[in-house]
Amino acid sequence: MKIHEYQGKEIFRKFGIPTPRGFPAFSVDEAVEAAKKLGGSVWVVKAQIHAGGRGKGGGVKVAKSLDEVRKLASAILGMQLKTHQTGPQGQKVRRLLIEEGAAIKKELYLGMVVDRGTQKVALMASTEGGMDIEEVAAKTPQKIFKLFVEPSSGLTDADAGKVAANLGLPAGAAPIFQSVYRCFLDTDASLVEINPLIITQQGQVVALDAKLNFDDNALFRHPEIVAMRDLDEEDPLEIEASKYDLNYISLDGNIGCMVNGAGLAMATMDTVKLFGGSPANFLDVGGSATPEKVTAAFKIMLSNPKVKGILVNIFGGIMQCDTIAKGVIAAAREVKLTVPLVVRMKGSNEDLGKKLLKDSGLPIISADGMGEAGKKIVAAITKKKSKPKPVKKKKKAVKAKKGKKKK
Ligand code: GDP
Ligand code: MN
Repeated sequence: MKIHEYQGKEIFRKFGIPTPRGFPAFSVDEAVEAAKKLGGSVWVVKAQIHAGGRGKGGGVKVAKSLDEVRKLASAILGMQLKTHQTGPQGQKVRRLLIEEGAAIKKELYLGMVVDRGTQKVALMASTEGGMDIEEVAAKTPQKIFKLFVEPSSGLTDADAGKVAANLGLPAGAAPIFQSVYRCFLDTDASLVEINPLIITQQGQVVALDAKLNFDDNALFRHPEIVAMRDLDEEDPLEIEASKYDLNYISLDGNIGCMVNGAGLAMATMDTVKLFGGSPANFLDVGGSATPEKVTAAFKIMLSNPKVKGILVNIFGGIMQCDTIAKGVIAAAREVKLTVPLVVRMKGSNEDLGKKLLKDSGLPIISADGMGEAGKKIVAAITKKKSKPKPVKKKKKAVKAKKGKKKK
């Protein structure tokens, strides 16, 4: 789960990580009120969306008068902010953060993530912080200092001292890294990124940005973080899927995939790709899929306008094939399915399931093996697009291609 920068900074303050003073604003008037409350003569108006790169996209601006705060807030609020992380359609700005302006002497980078390889928290730090950190990582990776935190001892004084030294900071700045590590652990974060972590003209170290992601599986321990969830920032199809306890992730392709089990779902997407198709989603209906759940899953897949065909790949274990078949038939009838549907099922009550599908009278294409299922769905959606050709010619073309591959 992701949260906004202003929420991340609220969490930082609880852990003693210095941040600029600031208030969130949901309207232009609130933005001006926030600036008045902060006082001073320089403010920063920051778009709050769940994506980075806002500065380059025009979503972070400095204001030198209350009038300017009003102007910038009205320009940014409601804008469709495009950054390298939002995709070409951008993300609508519905919230702002109004902060006191900081006098920046140097921009540093600090990040923590769970590293799968070492099974430790990886701390990354660089003196080259700011808006071009991706380029630094790509072109001059030696400028990024890495440290893997030993879980049993945590981020020790010696570790924190090393990080400070690598960033050219005095030893007195070291405890801040331990606070960030504590914040990472205590909130069950999967990512904490401060870019930039700045040194001010007065020599203070301050988190000028805050990006936090949390492990969804640990959210039950953090109701206060769950309360920060902003559904406006999430994919509506994924929100709908979570209501039915379906593991659904939208992708860019046009073949909807409905599978039970995450491993099988991954393998199914690979198979679709192998035969030249492109999956529209990852969808694991889980081991306890009821006909209602299957119907919901169909509706969710089909509400994606890009979907041109559906592939159902089910392993009947605890979940029996006839139950799934009933669900598929009910769903296909209810949603008045107009796109090709390929069903492959294996396992317990397989024959019964196949018979149900066959007897349903629905134009369901059945497949026995995974490869066959992948080929059939790709062929079904391709056939629809291209003009009908004489059957004989088509067969020859396929054979010729096969022959080439074998060589
Ligand atoms: P991001 O582009 O989405 O990562 O947004 P950031 O919060 O990192 O802001 C982008 C850039 O705006 C930072 O790298 C800073 O250079 C600049 N910036 C942000 N806040 C201030 C501020 O208070 N004063 C000044 N002078 N610059 C700021
Ligand atoms: Mn940033």
